[in-house]
Amino acid sequence: MMIKGYQTEILKIYDKIREDEAKALKLRKAEISEKFPEIIELDNQIQKLSLKMAVSILKSTDGEKVIDEFKENITDLRVKKCEMLVERGYDPEYLNLRYHCTKCKDTGFIGPVKCSCYKQKLVKLYYKNSELENTVASNNFDNFDLNLFSNHKLGDEKFTPRKNMENILQFVLREYLPDFSKISTNMLFYGNPGSGKTYLSYCIAKAILDLGYLVVYKTSDELIKNLREIRFNNDSSLESLILECDLLIIDDLGAEHLNEFSITELFNVINKRILTNKKMLISTNLTLPGITKQYSERIASRLIGEFKLCKFYSEDIRIKKNLEKNK
Ligand SMILES: [Zn+2]
Repeated sequence: MMIKGYQTEILKIYDKIREDEAKALKLRKAEISEKFPEIIELDNQIQKLSLKMAVSILKSTDGEKVIDEFKENITDLRVKKCEMLVERGYDPEYLNLRYHCTKCKDTGFIGPVKCSCYKQKLVKLYYKNSELENTVASNNFDNFDLNLFSNHKLGDEKFTPRKNMENILQFVLREYLPDFSKISTNMLFYGNPGSGKTYLSYCIAKAILDLGYLVVYKTSDELIKNLREIRFNNDSSLESLILECDLLIIDDLGAEHLNEFSITELFNVINKRILTNKKMLISTNLTLPGITKQYSERIASRLIGEFKLCKFYSEDIRIKKNLEKNK
């Protein structure tokens, strides 16, 4: 994960964790010091011995035997300290610093490599800063209502809208979500307005975020504006977010203002993400021939050739929902 930006904020979060834990330890020490000073006395002895041992190792005039003796003494005292704590009803670790992540000791890094907890923080932070958190609070699989899709065939379609949606859900729930880390499937949701594309995109966004992945959700109009920022203001953290996030959702492709710039930049994003195996979910009200007509041959061939095509169709669900509300 190479996402730039947010690093300063994330490092501050780690600073705060370490600060809070240091304070908490101080309080625990003060408590023990008041109630059972003999334990703190022991703790001080351990520290003194550790220091002496360090000096002895540095000087390297003392033999290994001396150092071994130090080690043995220190271990004995530590065991004794734990016993004393336990005897008095405390956790044996009560006087130790507590780590939220023992792997990186709350620094975010293991050597030069980012710890897994770093990414969790990044996802949370991005999630909190995006409007997505509010949107998916109600638009998610818990509230998905298959009954909104009719059991009556529409026109020449092979399945009823309901059966069609069941097929799409089956893929999403049985393959796409469980295998998200392994698969490289991009999805294109296309079909008439109000057929559930955006809603299902939100459901997927929430599910993927809950799995701990970074999802970036943009309408195509927002995306084009962002690409302009990147190109003309050199916003490199925005660029890495769009190119590197685990899932980029582009909603309502075809509604953006089209010109040479937007078509070129859009192609670059789609192409770069395909080449680096970064997943995308794109939804559009356009038909497949409509996509070819509106975009360059290059974009159309990527979208139609490299994406799993999911056709949505139904009566307008937004209208249906409103009618039911007003009943
Ligand atoms: Zn960690």
